Amino acid sequence: TPVIGVLALQGDVREHLVALATADAVARPVRRPEELAEVDGLVIPGGESTTISKLAALFGLLEPLRARVRDGMPVYGTCAGMIMLADKILDPRSGQETLGGIDMIVRRNAFGRQNESFEATVDIKGVAGDPVEGVFIRAPWVESVGADVDVLAEHEGHIVAVRQGDALATSFHPELTGDHRVHALFVDMVRAKQAPRSL
Ligand code: GLN
Repeated sequence: TPVIGVLALQGDVREHLVALATADAVARPVRRPEELAEVDGLVIPGGESTTISKLAALFGLLEPLRARVRDGMPVYGTCAGMIMLADKILDPRSGQETLGGIDMIVRRNAFGRQNESFEATVDIKGVAGDPVEGVFIRAPWVESVGADVDVLAEHEGHIVAVRQGDALATSFHPELTGDHRVHALFVDMVRAKQAPRSL
């Protein structure tokens, strides 16, 4: 069983822990470098990306996180977590840093302000069955992607889900809906990474 951490500096950590457990992973909060070292994969939750970035620096996690992402640890970022995985942000706030990992440019708060948050059905490549109910809360969208990035979903012409290698990101929050198929997709990515290689 894969052990998957949820970066627990700020944001909706609890909901991701529940979703991962439902998708048959062992889920743990990660706040310290030693905890990061023990997980097979990591979820970066939604919340506020500038706050998450500053707390990661404060907790001495920025470089360890970048190193693990560079080494190919599977990561999944939702909303603010998507922003953290962007190689570039269009409109960073001062002091805001990202981990990078996905060759994309992300626009923060692209879908509008808090009171313009909405739900919409989203068809996600790799998630079988009915479309997923996407909860968009002051959500970013992906402005552009590099050649190695797989676009998994769009909403009204804007990219809202992407994958590059072992990094997955969505603008919306599947952890808030009780439908854990996106988390199951991520757990499968972590499992595939763990599987012993055969010739
Ligand atoms: N707008 C937030 C940010 O810029 C993200 C919102 C969210 O994670 N729900 O970090």
